Amino acid sequence: MPAISSNKPYRVGRSKTGLGLFATKPIKKGTRIIRYFGPILDCRIPEQDDIENKYLFELNGRWTIDGSVRKNVARYINHSCRPNAESDVRPRERKVFIRAIKNIEAGDEINYDYGADYFKAYLKPIGCKCASCEKKRNKLRAEARAERAKVKVRAERKAQKASAAPKKKKLNGKYANGKTNGRARA
Ligand SMILES: [Zn+2]
Repeated sequence: MPAISSNKPYRVGRSKTGLGLFATKPIKKGTRIIRYFGPILDCRIPEQDDIENKYLFELNGRWTIDGSVRKNVARYINHSCRPNAESDVRPRERKVFIRAIKNIEAGDEINYDYGADYFKAYLKPIGCKCASCEKKRNKLRAEARAERAKVKVRAERKAQKASAAPKKKKLNGKYANGKTNGRARA
C-alpha cells in the first residue's frame, strides 16, 4: 500500500470541517490531481435515480457519479468558494477529474467549488466554512464591532450633552436675564 500511495501528491488529513485532502508535494497549475470516481447512475432507472447522498456528481441530465464509495478518495476534497482546483467534467467519457487551477504548495488543502446547487442545498443553510467565507465573516464581524463601538461613543456623547443642556437653558430663560416668559408685566 505505501508504495502505491507514495507516488500520489496528496493525503487525507484533518481539516477544519472534518477530513480533507492535502497536497504532500507541490502541484503545478493545470495538473490532473485525482479522479472523482464511483458507479455511474442512470436517472432513467428508478432505483438508481432514487439514490441520494452528498457525493453525487451530476455529469449531465442523465448520468451521475455516485462518489460515496470508499475507493473514491476525491470525496474527501472539501468545497471552497475560492478554490485551488476545479472539477474537469467529461460527460462523454463519464469521468470527472480534479485539476489544479493554481500552483499548490505541499501542505495546502486541495479544494474545488462544488457549484451553486450543492451550495444552496447543503452549505447555505449551515453557512459555508471555507477559508474565504470564514475570512469574509470575520471581516464583517470586526466591522460590526467597530460600528457598535462608534454608535456607543456617539450615544454617550449625546447623553452627556443632554444632561448638560437643560441646566443651561433654565439659567438663560428664567434666571440669567431676569425675565420669566413675559408674565412679569401683569
Ligand atoms: Zn465559502
